[in-house]
Amino acid sequence: MKLAMIGFGQAGGKIVDRFLEHDDRTGSGIVRAAVAVNSAKADLMGLERIPEENRVLIGQAEVNGHGVGADNELGAEIAENNVDEIQHAVDSIPTHEVDAFLIVAGMGGGTGSGGAPVLADHLKRIYTIPVYGLGVLPGADEGGIYTLNAARSFQTFVRETDNLLVFDNDSWRQTGESVEGSYDQINGEIVRRLAILFGAGEIREGEDVAESVVDSSEIINTLAGGGVSTIGFASEDVELESGGLLSRFTGGDEGAGLDTAETTNRITSLVRKATLGRLTLPCEVDGTERALLVLAGPSSYLNRKGIERGRTWLEDETGSMEVRGGDYPRQEPEVDAVVLLSGVTNVPRIKRLQEVAIEAQDRIDDIEAEREQNLETLVADEADELEPLF
Ligand code: GDP
Repeated sequence: MKLAMIGFGQAGGKIVDRFLEHDDRTGSGIVRAAVAVNSAKADLMGLERIPEENRVLIGQAEVNGHGVGADNELGAEIAENNVDEIQHAVDSIPTHEVDAFLIVAGMGGGTGSGGAPVLADHLKRIYTIPVYGLGVLPGADEGGIYTLNAARSFQTFVRETDNLLVFDNDSWRQTGESVEGSYDQINGEIVRRLAILFGAGEIREGEDVAESVVDSSEIINTLAGGGVSTIGFASEDVELESGGLLSRFTGGDEGAGLDTAETTNRITSLVRKATLGRLTLPCEVDGTERALLVLAGPSSYLNRKGIERGRTWLEDETGSMEVRGGDYPRQEPEVDAVVLLSGVTNVPRIKRLQEVAIEAQDRIDDIEAEREQNLETLVADEADELEPLF
């Protein structure tokens, strides 16, 4: 499936940049076009792969290239005011060759948090292809304003996109890692999952044709209906050898002669691991509206029966009647299961985020209400003996 990706704000730009790096390295051809939008000039200059002509600096009149400083209302306003400039960059995308837009943003900051939902609204009015979002939730340790920004952006971004894929930094931050190092690693995890999901619908020349192909329409149908999505992932190494495949799956059998029952069992347990392990947004899988299962790896390790069993298990686990599945043959020394859970509703993490956001908002309101009084008390001398200059 071919995507036009728009990275909004710093996190958004960096993640799209990372996607391009993956595309260049693997030749997967998922990113048909990439655009970065930011109100901070320095962030745009820090990107490596997104072509310079596709980097759009917005808000020059308002903030002069310095960013919005985590003010997402200002981020939204600047996006509104500059939507024509963004559209100009989107105009250079051959949209007839694109299956969907993906707008990527960190929801805790300012530019992307405020701007991404504005852009989604705009693109949906103009184009008929779906507009998806990838929204990143901030870590809990980032503080009240980031949580409040994320909670407000989340509400808006879900409403304005055809589906919002969510990634929660909080459940992925590794203790002991520097913030930059940890983002680097997290961005790699995001791209790894999405590259398999969206790469599945993209048949490349020279690759095996899948036994039961996942095509773009299945991805689109799983995401259709909107709401919030999370992604599960599990991977197992297999060894690629010249002339054949040696596998830990089957204890060293040659690829061509893999034991079917063993392969089937391994696929089923990979699907379980992916679903019950760490999701991009932690949630209860029961109650998921639609799901898609993609099995990627050398074709001799993929079989229809395994995928069917995985699908049936997913139906039971999610209670969904709309579980699609298929394979994505590729010559990598691993077998991966990606599970897209679309339309999840039981997400305690979001409820907690909202509670903390409301506390932060109340606190901000209190401070605001007391500010004038406090300043007056500070500036005035007790007996009112001093006089201001003018
Ligand atoms: P903006 O430039 O004003 O849109 O704000 P940023 O994108 O810098 O930050 C928004 C939020 O995104 C932060 O609060 C972090 O939670 C998150 N963030 C920033 N950089 C990265 C990154 O490289 N990867 C990930 N996963 N999250 C990031």
